[in-house]
Order: sequence, then structure tokens, then C-alpha cells
Amino acid sequence: MKKITIAIDGFSSSGKSTMAKQLARTIGYRYIDSGAMYRAVTLYALENSMVAADGTIDEKSLIAALPDIHIDFAPTENGQRTLLNGRDVEDEIRTLRVSNSVSPVAVIPEVRHAMVAIQQAFGVEKGIVMDGRDIGTTVFPDAELKIYVNASAETRAKRRWIELREKGDNTTTYEDVLDNVRTRDHIDSTRKESPLRRADDAIDLDNDNMSIEQQNAWLLEQFNKAANC
Ligand code: C5P
Repeated sequence: MKKITIAIDGFSSSGKSTMAKQLARTIGYRYIDSGAMYRAVTLYALENSMVAADGTIDEKSLIAALPDIHIDFAPTENGQRTLLNGRDVEDEIRTLRVSNSVSPVAVIPEVRHAMVAIQQAFGVEKGIVMDGRDIGTTVFPDAELKIYVNASAETRAKRRWIELREKGDNTTTYEDVLDNVRTRDHIDSTRKESPLRRADDAIDLDNDNMSIEQQNAWLLEQFNKAANC
């Protein structure tokens, strides 16, 4: 079976990371969460006073700091952890504070170019599953398998809200999450630089009414078809 590149794109909280991770584990491929990279850059901006109270990003300072921002992933028993300059930031990057600033950071072309270069380097030898917004269109336009995941904003917000509650966050309301999901959908799909767009050769997955097990089985089937041809 040949080694391939798998690109999974879709809106926030569409369940793409869960199934991308599971597929990578099953087939022994590397998994990269490209959203975690934009989240880590956002955390860096927040921690270095580059985000004003009204949410405006100090783009000039952030662009100048890009060479000092090193992002990597460390596999652990509890799954993959995102590292920002060697520090484990996996939990911090999932907070609503980061979610609320990540899309404005991800529209900055210089930030995107830096992240895309790292993502492409991760994928040089294939055998990779990467999820995000522009993986099938910009990062790996030649990927052998491209999936585009669709789910309603309400379903996605509910999933993310349950996830936050399971992590002990009892203050964020479902409405807060829905609001964030809708705002990010809008920014992610209307930005100038590589907006979220279905690649012409992507396979659609509408997972509103699918269980995680059904999605995993469906994805594995797509992989087997793509890797065997
Ligand atoms: O996937 P996740 O929701 O964690 O991504 C966080 C944010 O990072 C997205 O809302 C989007 O603004 C940005 N992103 C992006 N391109 C990617 C992955 C994520 O612009 N490939």
C-alpha cells in the first residue's frame, strides 16, 4: 500500500480533529492539527500584549516576532500535545480566550505563510493526516485524499460546549460558544488569504447525524480506496 497525504478541512468543531486523529492512529500515520498552530501563535500574541482590549491585533509586532515563535507537537500517552517554544500549551490554546482571537490572527498573510511552510515541511514524506481550513486547497493541493466536513453551526457549538464542560469549564454558555463558532465561520470563509473553501476534488462528509464510530468507519473506507489505487 503506498503512503499518501490526507487533507481534512471544514468549519470549527466539525469533528474533523477527532476522526483525523483516530484515522492516523489506525493506519500508523502522523497527525497534525493545523488549527493548534494558529491557536499557539494567538496565545503568543495574547501573552505578549499584542491583542488590544477591543480584540485588535498588533500585526506589526506579531509579524516581527514570527521568527521567535516555534511550534511543535509532542506525542504523549494522553495524545498529542502542542508545544509553543518548548512549553506545553495544549490546554491553554483550547480556551475561549484563544478561540475569540484566533481567526483575526489567522487572517494575517505573513502568519499564514509561516504556518503553511511548517505544515508543508511536516508532510514532505507523506504518511500524514492534517486537518484545518486550507489543507486541501493551499497546503497540500496534491493530496491523494481530501475530505470536506460539513455540520450545522448549532451541532458544532453543542459539541464544543460539551467538550469545554467535560474539561471543567462551567462558566462558558452554549450561546457564547455558538456566537464564537458563527463569528469564526464568517471570518474563516470570507478572508482574502486562503479562505475555507471546499477543494474541487474533495469528498463531502455531512456528519450532523453520524456517530463518531460511523465517521471513523467511513473515513477508513475512503483511505483504503485512496491508498490502494
Ligand atoms: O481547527 P480550529 O478550530 O482549532 O482552528 C482554529 C482557528 O485557526 C480557525 O478558526 C481558523 O481561524 C484558523 N485556522 C486556519 N487555517 C487552518 C486551521 C485553522 O485559518 N488550516
